[in-house]
Amino acid sequence: MRQNVPNVASLLIKQGTITARQVADKIRFYSGICYICQIEPMWSFDHVKPICKGGSNLIANLKPVCHSCNSRKGGRYPFELAKLRERAQEIYQKRQNNVAVL
Ligand SMILES: [Zn+2]
Repeated sequence: MRQNVPNVASLLIKQGTITARQVADKIRFYSGICYICQIEPMWSFDHVKPICKGGSNLIANLKPVCHSCNSRKGGRYPFELAKLRERAQEIYQKRQNNVAVL
C-alpha cells in the first residue's frame, strides 16, 4: 500500500532530506489542517521561508498547507499573506459600510 504523503514531502523523502517519520509527526502536530487558514485540510507542504528567498527543504521550514493558501502565498512569507488578508478584509468592511477605500 502506497503511503499517503503530500507530493513535496515524498520527493524530499526520496532525496533523503527529510524522513517519513518527520513528515508524519508534522502532519499529526497540525492535525492535517492548513497552518495558514487553519480550516482546510492540508494539500501539500509549504516552505515557510520561500525557497526563492533562501528557504531550506528541512522539516523545520515545512508546514502543512491547503491548495488555496498555497496558491495565494506563492513566494511570500506567511506574515506577508496575513497583511494581504487584513487589507482585503479592511476593503471589504469599508465597502459594506459605503466608506471610500483609500
Ligand atoms: Zn489554508
